[in-house]
Amino acid sequence: MSAHKAVIIPGDGIGPEVTKAVLRILEKAGVEIEWEEHKAGIAAIVDGDKVLPETTTDAIQQCKIALKGPCTTPVGKGFSSVNVQLRKTLNLYAAVRPVRSLAGVATRYENVDLVIIRENTEGLYSGIENEVTPGVVMSMKVATEKACTRISRWAFRYATHRNRPKITVFHKANIMKITDGLFIRCARNINEQEYPNIEYQEMIIDAGCMKLVQDPAQFDILLLENLYGDVVSDLCAGFVGGLGVVPGANIGDDMAVFEAVHGSAPDIAGKGIANPLALLMSAVMMLNHIGETRKDPSLRDAASKIKCAYDQALADGKKTRDLGGNLGTEQFADAVIDRLN
Ligand code: NAD
Repeated sequence: MSAHKAVIIPGDGIGPEVTKAVLRILEKAGVEIEWEEHKAGIAAIVDGDKVLPETTTDAIQQCKIALKGPCTTPVGKGFSSVNVQLRKTLNLYAAVRPVRSLAGVATRYENVDLVIIRENTEGLYSGIENEVTPGVVMSMKVATEKACTRISRWAFRYATHRNRPKITVFHKANIMKITDGLFIRCARNINEQEYPNIEYQEMIIDAGCMKLVQDPAQFDILLLENLYGDVVSDLCAGFVGGLGVVPGANIGDDMAVFEAVHGSAPDIAGKGIANPLALLMSAVMMLNHIGETRKDPSLRDAASKIKCAYDQALADGKKTRDLGGNLGTEQFADAVIDRLN
C-alpha cells in the first residue's frame, strides 16, 4: 500500500518540540506517512498569515487526517481560539479523550479507564458574546437538537463498537433547563430508541465531579457538552499523571484531527522538557484510526509497537519531569525508540 498523506501542524509554545520528537519516533517505527506541514495559531500570524490559514484547512480537507500540536489563544482579548475555529470549520464534532492509568506512573488513583466524549461545536463555545450596556455583558450558550443528537449517537455507537458498558451524561439541566435539558433529552432518546444495550446514567455535574474524584473507576464513558467536556478532561488528566499523558482526537464524519488535551504550555516552552507522550499517544490513536478506516493493518501494527515501547519505557522508569522523572523531551523520545522492536 502506498504511503498515506496527513497534515502536520507543529503549533505554538511546546508544540514544535513535542511534534519533532513524535515524528522522529514514528519514523523509527517505520510508519509510512507523507506529511504535509502547515501552520496555525501564532506561528501562522508570525508568517504574516491569518490565525487559521485557508491553506491549512484546505490541506486537512484533502488529506482527511491531521496531527496537531497545541496553539496559543490570548486570554481575555485578541483573536478567537484557532482550536475552536478549526473544529467548527471542519465540523469535527466529537472530541474523544481516553484517560487511562499507566504502569510506571504512580498517582493517587489506580485502574482509571475513562473515555471523555465532548461535544465540540457549540454550547458556550459559540463565541457569541456582547456588551448589552456598559458594565453588562452576555455570552450565549447555544444547543441544537441536531448537534446534541449527533454527538449522542456518536457516543453510543463508540461505546457499542468498543464494548464499553456505560455512558454517563454530566449536565446542569436543573438550572439551564432549556439548553442542558435538550442535551439530556437527545442522549436519552438515542439510548432508548437506538442503543438500549448501553447502560445510561445522568448526573448533575457538581455532584458528578465529587463522585468522580471519590472513585473514578465507577465511571466508564462520560458524555458532556463543550465547556463541561473541556474542564472535566483536565480534571481527569490529574487522575493519571497530568496533561502530559492524555491524548485526544477531534472527529467528524469524514475527517479527524488528532491532538493532545494539553495546551502550548508557555511556562516550559523552549526548555526541551515537555512531555511528548500525550502527542505520541494521539499519534497512536491516529494510526489506529487510519488503519481501521483504510484497512491498512501495517499502521495498526506500528501503533501497537509504539504503545508497547512507551509502556516499557515508563515501566523502566524513563520519564519526563512532569511524571517525576528527569528526562528531557528528546531523551524520552530516545528511550521509546530504544524499545521499539
Ligand atoms: P496548558 O495545558 O498549556 O498547561 C497547563 C500546565 O500543564 C502547565 O503548567 C504546563 O507546563 C503543563 N503541561 C502541559 N502540557 C505539558 C506537557 N506536554 N509536558 C509537561 N507539562 C505540560 O494550559 P494553559 O497554560 O492553560 O494554556 C496555555 C495556552 O494553550 C493558552 O493559550 C490556551 O488557550 C492554549 N490551549 C490550547 C489547546 C489546544 O491547542 N488544543 C488546549 C488547551 C489550551
